[in-house]
Amino acid sequence: MSLDDTFAAAFHAHREAGDLFHESSPHAHEVFQTSTINALLEGIYDGGTSFADLAQHGDFGLGTFNGLDGEMTAVDGEFFQIKSDGLAYPVDPEMRTPFAVIMHFDPTLTVEIDEHMDFPSFAAALDAAVPSKNIFYAIKSVGRFREVKVRSVPKQEKPYPPLVEVVEGQPVFEHKDVEGTLMGFRFPDYAQGINVPGYHLHFLTADKTAGGHVMDFHTHHASVEIDITSDFHMELPHAGDFMDAELAKDTSGDIAKVEK
Ligand SMILES: [Zn+2]
Repeated sequence: MSLDDTFAAAFHAHREAGDLFHESSPHAHEVFQTSTINALLEGIYDGGTSFADLAQHGDFGLGTFNGLDGEMTAVDGEFFQIKSDGLAYPVDPEMRTPFAVIMHFDPTLTVEIDEHMDFPSFAAALDAAVPSKNIFYAIKSVGRFREVKVRSVPKQEKPYPPLVEVVEGQPVFEHKDVEGTLMGFRFPDYAQGINVPGYHLHFLTADKTAGGHVMDFHTHHASVEIDITSDFHMELPHAGDFMDAELAKDTSGDIAKVEK
């Protein structure tokens, strides 16, 4: 079976069963987000949402920390802070985030890909398989990767520089022949300004000691779990720098520099 056929069959089976969006549970599959990607690009690196708050909205997600102190990865309810040394540290529930995306991950289907992939071909394969580019997907792939190239971001001091300036000096780490979890989200292109259009992936090694924001990877096989959802809940700051920030700019060029 081709990837498309496999996906279509699984999708159809779920739809027939009437549980594609698990409507029985009102907040199942709801993607929760605090603040916006454009606010982060503008250097708004302090938020009021604690990780205790965030954990109420899910067990799976990504984001960053106040002061832009590293990359956040949450998998199976465990939250990690990947600092600029590339290492993963446990997150204190009292810590706060300026930007995070989280959900209760409950995959709708699994896609097996048995061919060489890098990030662009992985993205193209999933793009070809998903039923619409206009809804949201959470993606998780646990396995062995030939190579995963990740970055983290160093903690910033006020006055905060914009994110494009921060990433010019970002530390990059290459993990070879590594086991771990590749995870993240696909947002629609129209979400530009709100979140990262397309795929935004983070990585955590299987021993939970390292990871980061995924720049590229290579693998020969991936089993990809996908949670399909059309529920999106965004909570914005209601005080501080966010209130006066210019958040309607076209940031597509900046996003390409910062996220890819
Ligand atoms: Zn990231």
